Amino acid sequence: MGFLWPDCLVVYSYEYYVGLAAKGPRAAFDTGKFRKIRNALLTTGTLKPRHVLEPTPVGWEDFRLAHDADYLETLKDPRTLNQILFLDDMSPFENDVLQFFMVVTGGSILAVEQALTRRVPVFNLGGGYHHAKRDRGEGFCPVNDVAVAVRRVQQAKPGIRILIVDLDYHQGNGTATIFADDDTVFTYSIHHETWDVVNSRTNMDIELPDDTGDEDYLDTLNRSLPPVLAEFQPDLVIYIAGTDVHRDDPLGTFAITDAGVLDRDLTVWRMVKERGLPLAVVAGGGYGPGSWRLYYRFICHVSGRRRRCSASR
Ligand SMILES: [Zn+2]
Repeated sequence: MGFLWPDCLVVYSYEYYVGLAAKGPRAAFDTGKFRKIRNALLTTGTLKPRHVLEPTPVGWEDFRLAHDADYLETLKDPRTLNQILFLDDMSPFENDVLQFFMVVTGGSILAVEQALTRRVPVFNLGGGYHHAKRDRGEGFCPVNDVAVAVRRVQQAKPGIRILIVDLDYHQGNGTATIFADDDTVFTYSIHHETWDVVNSRTNMDIELPDDTGDEDYLDTLNRSLPPVLAEFQPDLVIYIAGTDVHRDDPLGTFAITDAGVLDRDLTVWRMVKERGLPLAVVAGGGYGPGSWRLYYRFICHVSGRRRRCSASR
């Protein structure tokens, strides 16, 4: 199926909003972030409603592709979820929060599937819960949506080689751990601090110090990613585009500007495009009121309707 416009698609569900808004983390996370991006894309005419794909929620059997059954059982206890998500004190079990993760994981699966079949970049407006491991969740990540999506595509296409480019401010330690023994999945991460040292032939972890600015960050990316693409020869790239690298992010300590974040995102996109590879993008982290705009701008630039987006700023 070919179409002239747009040059990308997005994945979003209204449940991305309602799932978090009521009971979501009180901290710095803007629970309206995903919805703001979707609304801005539509109101500016960057995308039409038909370019916004609606995911189907996954079930427990999908979570089991990347997680231990014993661990998943603990998620049914509200205390586990509250701890991982930094929610306020104990509440009766809140179905909508878990429902959010089921829908958003369905979104990452859909983004990957559509990227493979339609050959345009597909952005999940949520996703990227990269700290979740097989047997535990941490840091706002009860389940690893990207790992589940990878396992699903591996079932459909055995032997497929997948590169995960994780440029969230935090290390993609959960994803790297889950795929440590899988040589068909390469986990590449530039981050501030290494939470877990992962010994794997198909893992690269690059740590950058506080106050890293645009030049050093982009230089690191430009030097280290091309050899991985050339040597690993992926069939698919999944990009975790966390914007918590931005200098104003309340959780991050880098000094990267608006232009730097966009440059980073477009650099990954161009490298993948030059090789003709399918690209699925998930949001990753990014906190505070300005975070949504950073991911939104990336989508605008890829959409081919950049002028419309800048008109809205
Ligand atoms: Zn992060």
